[in-house]
Amino acid sequence: MPVGTNIPATAVLVLGAGPAGLVLANLLCAAGVDCVVVERRGRAHVEQRARAGFLSPDSVDVLRAHGLDHGLRHAGRTHDRCEFRSAAGRVELRYSELGRGRVHTVYPQQLLVTDLIAELLRRGGRILFDTTATAIGGLHEERPWALLRDARGAETRYEARYLAGCDGARGIARSAVPAATAVRDHGITWLALLVQAPPTSHSVLYGVHGDGFAGQMPRSPDVTRYYLQCDPAAGVDDWDEQRIWAELDRRLDAPRYGAPARGPILERGLVRLRSEILDPIQHGRLLLAGDAATSISPSAAKGANLAIAEARLLARALTTAVHTGDETALHRYSADCLPLIRRAQEFSHWMIDLLHPPAPDDPEAAYQRMLRSARLHSLATSESHRHFFADNYVGI
Ligand SMILES: Cc1cc2nc3c(=O)[nH]c(=O)nc-3n(C[C@H](O)[C@H](O)[C@H](O)COP(=O)(O)OP(=O)(O)OC[C@H]3O[C@@H](n4cnc5c(N)ncnc54)[C@H](O)[C@@H]3O)c2cc1C
Repeated sequence: MPVGTNIPATAVLVLGAGPAGLVLANLLCAAGVDCVVVERRGRAHVEQRARAGFLSPDSVDVLRAHGLDHGLRHAGRTHDRCEFRSAAGRVELRYSELGRGRVHTVYPQQLLVTDLIAELLRRGGRILFDTTATAIGGLHEERPWALLRDARGAETRYEARYLAGCDGARGIARSAVPAATAVRDHGITWLALLVQAPPTSHSVLYGVHGDGFAGQMPRSPDVTRYYLQCDPAAGVDDWDEQRIWAELDRRLDAPRYGAPARGPILERGLVRLRSEILDPIQHGRLLLAGDAATSISPSAAKGANLAIAEARLLARALTTAVHTGDETALHRYSADCLPLIRRAQEFSHWMIDLLHPPAPDDPEAAYQRMLRSARLHSLATSESHRHFFADNYVGI
């Protein structure tokens, strides 16, 4: 969309090609809103980056309603149960039979990102890969801008009517929003592993062990994600394979329930559990969505789902603003998103407290341990607790 100078311009410049930016751009493109996505990594990198896997029914509805569910329909698998294992035994929750009877769909994030990129390009959308936004400005002017640096180091100033900050927790957009931030560093680190092996159980497994959390999440018929709580000071290489499998066996109680299936470890990384909410998530003509707006621990699988929910709300508000000039919905964007974000944060925090033992030097450790067993007992015995869990776990 030329503006009479040689400065490139578009209606909406979307920073970041993760789930938030790509859902937003697809919805804008379908609504006839000109937009350009800027992504600092290459296409192959973002299409292979394994992260989330559990989509809520709300996310699936958004993708289906906008023709973005082609891959999901073929390769997504319904998932309806999880299991907590502790010294007191195991508690299985089939959430298809609880709450509103809703279920997850397991579809690895990298496949979703691949689908969203293909569909956006098919719809005529533009993505500038290997291009980094190094600065943004003019947020209260008619034409905010971003300075973009390509792989060769060439810099271009790009203008837009609106900037969408979908560049994740470490992007540049969030620091341009003078928001109040509420932060919690949980002091907990997970070793995150992708293993070439089918999941041993159809359930998501949560090992609630006195020495630390262990988890198993299905990703595809032959790839499984495992998590192991580890010493926050540890490095990825401090864990050799023998130690990894021994700890998974111990914390998931292999002697009683069978050992997790072994396989080559395809990928390992560290995830530090940190939660942060910005309020508001917009400033002038810059609007944030996804991890740029809130960092949330993966304990309740909410990050990618929040990203999709926010992208939908933002797409609707931007479409109205661009087509009609009416910015009412845009001005309400933060207020519309924040209740959703707070609720997801609250439940993720509830899960963190349930899954992790208190720190050894916590003077209230005995009390915390008592709370954990009371929660597990409630999940095992109280219908209303099981319904509470199902509603919050599967929906937001
Ligand atoms: C191990 C792990 C497991 C997870 N499991 C789940 C799960 O089961 N369910 C769930 O819902 N969530 C899960 N999450 C969280 C989920 O992956 C994130 O919440 C989700 O990726 C957020 O999407 P996003 O688009 O906001 O950000 P991102 O996916 O981080 O995308 C942001 C993009 O912006 C790009 N970028 C950054 N800076 C710039 C810049 N300056 N210029 C241009 N581009 C830039 C980045 O390269 C990136 O591609 C998990 C996360 C991890 C790490």
